Amino acid sequence: MTDLPKQYDHSAAQDRWYRFWEERGYFHSEPDPRRKPYTIVIPPPNVTGALHLGHALNNTLQDVLIRQKRMQGFETLWMPGTDHAGIATQAVVERRLLTEEKITRHELGREGLVKRIWDWKEAYEARIIGQLKEMGCSCDWQRTRFTLDPICARAVRHTFFSLFKDELIYRGKRLVNWDTALQTAVSDDEVFHEAVSGHFWYFRYPVIDPKPGEPQHVTIATTRPETMLGDTAVAVHPDPAAALDKAEADLQARLASVPEKEKAALRAQLDDVRGRRETMLDELLKLRDMALDGRTLLLPLLEREIPLIADEWARPELGTGCVKITPAHDPNDYEVGLRRDLPMVNILNLDGTLNENAGPYEGQTVMVSRENVVADLDKLGLLAKTEDRQIDLAHSDRSKTPIEPLLTDQWFVKMDRLAQTAMNAVTDGRVKIIPQRYTKGYLDWLGEKRDWPISRQLWWGHQIPIWYCKTAGEDDLKRAFADRDDVVWHRDEQYDQWLICAREEDLAEDAVPGHELVREQDVLDTWFSSALWPHSTLGWPEQTEELKYYYPTNVLITSRDIISLWVARMVLAGLHNVGEIPFHEVYIHPKILDGYGEGMSKSKGNGVDPIDIIEKFGADSLRFALTYLTTETQDFRMPVDFECPHCRKLIPQTTENRMRPRIKCPECGGRFATQWAEKPEDTQLPRGAVVSDRFEMARNFCNKLWNASRFALMNLDGFTPGAVADEELLVEDRWILSRLSTVTQQVTDYLADYKYADAARTLYDFAWDEFCSFFVEMVKGRLQDESGRPLAQRVLAHTLDTILRLLHPMIPFVTEEVWQLLSSAAPQRGIDAPASAAESIMIAPWPQSDPRRQDPQIEARFARFQDVLRAIRDIRGRQNVPPKQQIEFSVRCDAEVAELLQPMEPYFASMAGAKPSAWGPEVKAPALSANVTLPGIEVFVDLAELIDIEAEIARKKQELEKLDKLIEAKKKKLENKNFVERAPEAVVQKERESLAELEGQHAATMTVLENLGRVRNSA
Ligand SMILES: [Zn+2]
Repeated sequence: MTDLPKQYDHSAAQDRWYRFWEERGYFHSEPDPRRKPYTIVIPPPNVTGALHLGHALNNTLQDVLIRQKRMQGFETLWMPGTDHAGIATQAVVERRLLTEEKITRHELGREGLVKRIWDWKEAYEARIIGQLKEMGCSCDWQRTRFTLDPICARAVRHTFFSLFKDELIYRGKRLVNWDTALQTAVSDDEVFHEAVSGHFWYFRYPVIDPKPGEPQHVTIATTRPETMLGDTAVAVHPDPAAALDKAEADLQARLASVPEKEKAALRAQLDDVRGRRETMLDELLKLRDMALDGRTLLLPLLEREIPLIADEWARPELGTGCVKITPAHDPNDYEVGLRRDLPMVNILNLDGTLNENAGPYEGQTVMVSRENVVADLDKLGLLAKTEDRQIDLAHSDRSKTPIEPLLTDQWFVKMDRLAQTAMNAVTDGRVKIIPQRYTKGYLDWLGEKRDWPISRQLWWGHQIPIWYCKTAGEDDLKRAFADRDDVVWHRDEQYDQWLICAREEDLAEDAVPGHELVREQDVLDTWFSSALWPHSTLGWPEQTEELKYYYPTNVLITSRDIISLWVARMVLAGLHNVGEIPFHEVYIHPKILDGYGEGMSKSKGNGVDPIDIIEKFGADSLRFALTYLTTETQDFRMPVDFECPHCRKLIPQTTENRMRPRIKCPECGGRFATQWAEKPEDTQLPRGAVVSDRFEMARNFCNKLWNASRFALMNLDGFTPGAVADEELLVEDRWILSRLSTVTQQVTDYLADYKYADAARTLYDFAWDEFCSFFVEMVKGRLQDESGRPLAQRVLAHTLDTILRLLHPMIPFVTEEVWQLLSSAAPQRGIDAPASAAESIMIAPWPQSDPRRQDPQIEARFARFQDVLRAIRDIRGRQNVPPKQQIEFSVRCDAEVAELLQPMEPYFASMAGAKPSAWGPEVKAPALSANVTLPGIEVFVDLAELIDIEAEIARKKQELEKLDKLIEAKKKKLENKNFVERAPEAVVQKERESLAELEGQHAATMTVLENLGRVRNSA
C-alpha cells in the first residue's frame, strides 16, 4: 500500500461510506429480544426551513451516542422525523404567497392553502433529511415519521378523545393573545415584549346625576384609548386610605434593601404617595362612597351607562387612582369582570378592525380608531391631558405585530392533575434532567398548572375532532351512536349545544338522522402532536412490538428553549397515554453564539449553514468541532467569517458588514454577494459562504490522523497476524497499550455522562500527541528492521484499530475510510487473540478497557519523557542546532524521576539526537547552557559548541527585566499595610513564597548571564 493520497478527500469518502452504510442496512433496527434496546427519538425539525448550525450540534450529539451504543452491542434505534410546525409553517407559506403571487389564503381557500403547504413540506423535508445524511446521521430512515402523517394523526385523535372523555379537555371563553395578522390565538410562549414610545391619555367620564358636593367627572388614564369603547365599568379602591398606607410601607421596605443608586427614584415615589394623601384621598373616598351607593357613569362617545364599582384592582398610588375596566380586552380587567359579574363587550373583529359594538368606529383599524377616539373626546372637552410614556407592548413572535387581548372560544387541556404527574416523574427521579440545574425551570413551569390552550385558528394542522349539534336531544345521539364506543359527547351549556367527539373516523353531517352536525374548524396547537412523539412514532395506540421493545426511550437530547413547551408535555402525555415516562434522561446541550455572543439567525445575517461547513471542512470536522465545544457549563462562541469565493480568504464578520448585500475582499479585491443581495448587480456576483474558522482545528486533526494512518498503512506490508506475549513487548508498546486502556476507560465514562467535550479533548490529545507524534515516530526504526518488524506491525495495527473505533462516533467518515484500508493491509488483527475485523467500523465492537494493561508507572515515565523530549527539541529549535548534530543534555530532578527517565536514554538519541550526561538532584548547570524549567525538572543543554552567545545574552536580559518587574510588583503589594493586615494569612503567605521563588529565578538567571559574559570575554 504505497499510493495513498497525502490529503484526505472528505467529499468522496462521505458519499462512498454513507451509501455503503445505508445499503448494508446498518441504520435499520428491529426489535430483538436477545439484545438490549437503546433508543433516541429525534427532536423533529420544523419543516419551516432548512437546518442551521444549532440543528447540526443537536444531531451530532445524538449520532455520537447512537453510534457508540451500536458498537457497544445495543439494538439501537434513532427515530427520525419532522414536525409540521403549524403556525410557523403556515406563516412562512402565506408570506411567500403574498410576496410572490400576491394572493392571500382567503383567495386560495382552506384546501388550496393546505395543498400548497404540503408541497412546501415535501420540498423542505427532503432538504432536511438530505442535510442530516450529509452530516452522517445514522437514523433509521425506513421509520421516518411526520407529525401529520396517518400514524401520528391517529395518536392525536386517540389522545384528544380520551382527554375529552375524561373531561380533561374543555371549551371555554378565555382572553387569549390574538395575532390579528395571522388571525389566530398564540400561546404566552409565542409572545415577546418590546418597549415602544406611546402615551398616557387622561379621559373624563361624566357622572350621571351626581348628588350635591359630588364630582361631576371621574378621570381615568389609558395607553389604548380605543378600548374605552369596550369599557363596562370604572373601578375605585374600596379602602383607598389603607391602600396608600400599604403602598407607603412597601416602598419603605424596598428603600431599605436597594442599592444607593436606586434610592432617589424610590424616594420620589414615596413623596408622591404621601402627597396623594393630601391631594387625592378625599376625592377617592368620595368616589368609593358613590360606588357603594350605586352611582353610574356615562361612557362618552357611545353614551352607554356603566357602573362605578369598588374593586382592589384600582390602585390609589397610581395614575388617577381610578381605572377603566375593559374585560374583553385586558387580562386583569377580565379577572375583575369575572369577579364583579360585568358584561364582556368585545369590540374587535378577528382581523383587528373594530366591530359593530364600536358604534361609529366600526370597520376602522385599531390605529385609526385610536386617533379618532382621542380627537372626538377632545372635541367634547373630555380629554384631560396627554403624557409621553414608554410602553411595554406584547408582540406575536410569528407575525411580529402587536398582540390584541381578545375574548374568544377556545379549547383547553386541564393541567392540574396532568402537570402533577409530570412533576412527580422528575422529583422522584424517574426522569433525570442533565445538567441538573434545568430541573428548576421544568418544575416551576409545570407548578403554575396553567390550563393549556390547544386550539389554533389555522388551516395547517390536526383539525379538532369535534362536531357541534344544536338541535338533537340526547336520545337522538344515543340512538345514532348506539353501537359505537368511539364516539362521546358532552353538553355545552354556554351555547346550548352538543359537543360530539369521534375517535376513529370523521362524522358525516347527517350522522344523527334529522339533525345537522357542524365540524369544528380550529386545529390543534403543534405541541399537542409533538407531545406524543416518543410513543406515536412507535405506533401507539396500537400495542406494537416496537412500542413494547423501544419504549421508554433512553435519552432525549434537546435545547433549553423547549423544556416547558415540549419536554414537560411529552412527559405528561406519555404518562397519560402509555402509563410510562417517555425517556429516562434528558440532556440539555449548550447553544452556539457568534463571536459577539449573539445567537445565530438568518435574520441577523450571522447564520451558518452546516452544508457550507461540510463542503469547506468536511462532515467529520463539523462534527468533531461541535463535540469538542460541548461542555456542560456554558454556551459557546463561534466567530463567523465570510469566505471569499475568489481567493478563499476568510473575512471576519462584524455587526456592520454582516448586513451588506455585497462585500469586497480585502485580499484579492474581488466582490461577492451575501444573503441580502437583491439588486441584479449584487445577485449576479458569486455568493460568499458564511463559515467559521473554529472548524479548522478539527480539519487539522482529521488530516493529522489521516497522515499518521497513511504512514502506518504504508508500513504494514507483509503484516502477519499473531498473538503477542507480554514479555515480547517493548517499553513503548507497554506504554501505548496502557494509555490505550486508560483512554478507552475515560472516553467510555465521559460519554456515559454526556461529557462530550471531555471525551473529544481526551481523544484529540491522545491521538495527536501520543499516537501520531510519539508512538508512530518511536516505532519507525523497528519497522525498518526485519526482526523487530512483525511485533511493531502488530502493535501498530492494533493501536490504530482501537483509536479509529474510539473516534468513529465523532468522525465516522475518515475512520471508516482508514478502517477499510487497514482491513486490506491487516484483515486479522489484535494482540491478545487476533480476529477478522468487522466489515465496517460502524458495526465493530466498542473497545474494552483492559485493566491488566494499565501501568501507571510507565504512563508517568512517558509523561516525563515527553516533557523532557519537548524541552530538548525546543532548545534545539531556539539555538538553531542543525538536525544532524548530536547534543548533550543533563537533567536536574529528584532520584525518583531520574529512575523513570534513565531507561529512556535510547529514545532521546533516536528522537532528539540527544545524549544525557547526568541525571539527578546533584546535577549542576554547565558553564554555558540553555535550560528549560518544568515542574520538578530542569533540563540543561550544554551549549559550549552550539550557541549564538549574543542571542542568548539578549534573551536572558529580557528575562531579567521581566523578573525585575514582577518582583517589584510583589514587593509593593507586600509593603501595602492594607493588604497585609486585611488579607487572610494564607494569601499573604502565598504572596511571600511567590516572591521568594521569583528572587530565586532571578539569581539563577544572573548566574547564567555572568557565565555567558565570561565565555564571550574569553572567546
Ligand atoms: Zn478574495
